[in-house]
Amino acid sequence: MAIRYNTFEVGVDLRAIRHNYRILCEKGSNVYGVIKADAYGHGMIEVARALESEGADTFAVGTVGEAVQLRRSGCEKRIISLLGPLNEADCLALAEDSIIPFVGCFDQLNMLVSVAEKHQLEIEISLKFETGMSRLGFSIDELAELIKTLKAGPQIRPVMASSHLATSDDPAYEGYVDKQAEKFMFILNTLESAGFKVEASLANSAGILKHDNVHFTAQRGGIALYGANPLSGTSWEDLGSRLKPAMQVRTKIAAVRELKKGQSISYGCTYTAQKDMKVAIVCAGYADGYSRGLSSKGAVCINGRRALIVGRVCMQLTAVDVSSIPDVKFGDTAYLLGGEGEGAISPDDLASWWGTITYEVFCLLGLNPKSYVE
Ligand SMILES: *Cc1c(COP(=O)(O)O)cnc(C)c1O
Repeated sequence: MAIRYNTFEVGVDLRAIRHNYRILCEKGSNVYGVIKADAYGHGMIEVARALESEGADTFAVGTVGEAVQLRRSGCEKRIISLLGPLNEADCLALAEDSIIPFVGCFDQLNMLVSVAEKHQLEIEISLKFETGMSRLGFSIDELAELIKTLKAGPQIRPVMASSHLATSDDPAYEGYVDKQAEKFMFILNTLESAGFKVEASLANSAGILKHDNVHFTAQRGGIALYGANPLSGTSWEDLGSRLKPAMQVRTKIAAVRELKKGQSISYGCTYTAQKDMKVAIVCAGYADGYSRGLSSKGAVCINGRRALIVGRVCMQLTAVDVSSIPDVKFGDTAYLLGGEGEGAISPDDLASWWGTITYEVFCLLGLNPKSYVE
């Protein structure tokens, strides 16, 4: 194997992901591992293996392409494609690799029926319903026609039904969760009366942690697996307090230098030293997915301490204030996420400086090369 040396490195602690999965399993009854978008940037195949070792037997990815990739990696467990097929090639691929697609509209269902008839295939699907997200899924109004279509095309066999919560992480919208659950319950009852008894999932991470009443027979855990608390900053925060972040992002310091009072730093001279300072130039920038929006906003962790970003984040470099951190040297490590001690950067810290959510921080930083701790 080629030796790979990366200045900018994303480290993923698979032990933390396994720990987080066990926490979700204490709450839920049958937790699918949601590993779409390369497991939120943590590495789909590595995360699937780690979850499998904890007993996970169902994985949810996004596209059919992701599902095929996971299957071809040797995964023999149930694989769900949350997006489902978008063309005939997708339909054939999911039949060939025994992938269960979410199917949420008649365009998709009819395409699948016609491919199954043409090629004499039997395909298991997960019906996707709209209960309040207004994004994908059959609506309650379409149920009768859906049941008719399913009865006419027995080669398409629904084995699951699902819907997705829009507000499970927000105490102000608890009633909205209940309304979605009621609609979903009505849908399940209608399906059952028509002879379709299916595994039912509604809850995402926040639903698993907080809303016991929406657990149905299975749950889909995503962000909590990676150790970000979907309830942080709310009155429900404690319910996710045992989760451990799995991703650390680190890079090297390329220079340590003096910044004299009155001297400006980086493009646009947006930051001028108010006193004599010491700055470290760290090898991270927007080319690494470290947003330029963090200019003069965020911080990194060096030697266990926080160092504030000064001036604009550049393509591969960012300047930070290390005036009050002793012994910072050329070649030292700076953590953009994680780190040791008091100054460690949590996913929530970074997301709030960035003006986004932990999901996006993980996905973007996770595009970089990764290394793993088992
Ligand atoms: C991403 C996703 C999830 C997981 O949501 P989290 O908030 O990350 O737990 C569950 N269901 C669907 C349909 C999703 O797309």
